[in-house]
Amino acid sequence: MISETKICQNCKQNFVIAPEDFAFYEKIHVPAPTFCPECRTQRRMVFRNEFLLYKKKSAFSGEEIFSMFPPLSYPKVYENKKWYSDEWDPMQFGKEVDFTLPIIEQVFELLKLVPHAARSVSESTLINSDYSNNANHLKNCYLVFNAAHDENCIYGNDIYNSKDSIDNLTIKQVELSYGNFLVTKSSRIFFSSDCENSYDIYFSKNLRGCSNCFGCANLHNKNYYIFNKPYSKEEYLEKIKTFDLGSYKFINETIIKSTNFWLNFPNQYLHIRTNVNSRGSEYVYNSKNIFNSYYVREAENVKYSQFVITPPAAHIYDQTLFGEGASFDYECLICGLGVNNMKFCRECWSNLHDVQYSMYCQNSSNLFACIGLRNKSYCILNKQYTKEEYEKLVPRIIEHMNTMPYIDKKGRVYKYGEFFPSELSPFSYNETIAQEYFPLTREQAIEQGYSWKDPEPRNYEIQIKNNQIPDHIKDVGDEK
Ligand SMILES: [Zn+2]
Repeated sequence: MISETKICQNCKQNFVIAPEDFAFYEKIHVPAPTFCPECRTQRRMVFRNEFLLYKKKSAFSGEEIFSMFPPLSYPKVYENKKWYSDEWDPMQFGKEVDFTLPIIEQVFELLKLVPHAARSVSESTLINSDYSNNANHLKNCYLVFNAAHDENCIYGNDIYNSKDSIDNLTIKQVELSYGNFLVTKSSRIFFSSDCENSYDIYFSKNLRGCSNCFGCANLHNKNYYIFNKPYSKEEYLEKIKTFDLGSYKFINETIIKSTNFWLNFPNQYLHIRTNVNSRGSEYVYNSKNIFNSYYVREAENVKYSQFVITPPAAHIYDQTLFGEGASFDYECLICGLGVNNMKFCRECWSNLHDVQYSMYCQNSSNLFACIGLRNKSYCILNKQYTKEEYEKLVPRIIEHMNTMPYIDKKGRVYKYGEFFPSELSPFSYNETIAQEYFPLTREQAIEQGYSWKDPEPRNYEIQIKNNQIPDHIKDVGDEK
């Protein structure tokens, strides 16, 4: 096989399909993509609202509940406990395949009928953590998103296997820490970034195996350093006592001082560690054969993917989030927890295999174009078939998708082999992570066919002004 250059349907730029890409597509029986890798990523990301929560009326109880879906968006939402209960049956919405209409159009109609869980959480694994989303296995957490296996954490994104920590972004196996970015296997880390296997660290960057460091950069296996200068243990502890860490003013001044100090040191050209044969990728750790991917941990044979961070994961192309027992996934968003051979799926997690063009399905296999099914096999558009009927019908549907593809309002053609068109997303472009990684102005987004959410007026009554807040923590009482 040789590589082939194609023109992206979406951005009209050239992109290359490598011989190993063709081999993967052949193995999983899909045609080569017609969108370039970046446009494919953007297309998936418009379906991911990471941390916005809204009040939306439950279609079950009529009560206002917290939901990741905006109030006026098309999904009917149920309280998570109801959604996971047997009090309703997603199969009641099942439909025969209509060969006079594009399949994607029929998926969209089904999406509008089948209730959605209000938040993307594994309900039975959450204890006292009602204000989090995109999460599982949380205890006493508040406003943490994209999180799993955490306890007593508040305000954070990408928080994994961590405890007693506040205001962090991207931490794993961390405890008693505050205000950090990218910290792993560490304890008592404050206002620092890119630290690993360290403890008692303040205002530092890129430390490995360190302890008792303040304002440092690029140190490995060191302790008792202040602004990269070594001290004896006694001197260090005396000096630290003179730093007024209870003062907000001191903290802010020290953040500025330390970040300026870090500028004196070279940066790593990439955040990659202990990988074998990885190229064109950033934030990749303990992995093998990772190509053109962003933020991958403990995975193998991954290409064109992002945030495949909960191990293990292997043989994956074009997946955005998350892994944890995923293999042979292609063009999937938020799939994991024991999934195999998933194609063009969104939010399908927990024990699934051989599933295509489906959303919100769990513990199932051999599904095509299904929404919200649990413990089912051989279903199409939420309708039950026998194994024999299913195996006959799926090739016919794929053929139908190629002869009568979905065409979006911008004229982009979706035959079998493309992820869902962004028009099916219940979110506006700027509510999703697409806006973080492919930022657009309002005008650009609308011109490109996305919806846009204008900010809502907010009328807060100010009860305390900034200058009335005490500078020092010792002056703050316990009253609310
Ligand atoms: Zn493109």
